Amino acid sequence: MLIAEFGFWIENLKGNETMQRVAIYPGSFDPVTNGHLDILERGLKLFDKIILAILTNPKKNFLFTLEQRIEMLEESVKEFDNVVIDTFDGLTVDFAAQCNAQGILRGLRALSDFEYEFQLALMNRRLNREVQTVFLMTGLRWIYTSSSIIKEAAQFGGDINGMVPPIVEKKIKEKFAPN
Ligand code: ADP
Repeated sequence: MLIAEFGFWIENLKGNETMQRVAIYPGSFDPVTNGHLDILERGLKLFDKIILAILTNPKKNFLFTLEQRIEMLEESVKEFDNVVIDTFDGLTVDFAAQCNAQGILRGLRALSDFEYEFQLALMNRRLNREVQTVFLMTGLRWIYTSSSIIKEAAQFGGDINGMVPPIVEKKIKEKFAPN
């Protein structure tokens, strides 16, 4: 190897060493739950930076507006300086590429998630082979926690304390408070 080539090789090596491992964590987060945060925290052990990618799809029937979902997420992840919140619509893999992310982070709960997540991951792989879907298993405590079940319980006055961040508990209560 010529000395000039060696220099180039070393520079490249340095570049790779400092390359950040980035993942996007896409979801509706309507609203964010402690289950979502569990996956985020586990993900931060693998990735240097995680971009919480909130789906804006106007065709979906969300309980909370995009602004409200952002506000609740911002408050819930404020302790992490390597977590960024962003919004997207369209293909998840396109958004991942736009963010220079190598990974798509998804959480797996009990059996019910598996088939849908598997389909989604295979489709995403087909669409962009450079981006890897990374599944992390949720903590046992959150295995049956979902945004929808929380909304359903809260709607009828059920206690959701300890299942969602405090700001979410407050906002849900306000949402379903009798006028
Ligand atoms: P989506 O509309 O894409 O399903 P969600 O906000 O419901 O968006 O979920 C985003 C991701 O978070 C999904 O991978 C989902 O499996 C995961 N997730 C949701 N709730 C939990 C939980 N309790 N434990 C672990 N992962 C979860």
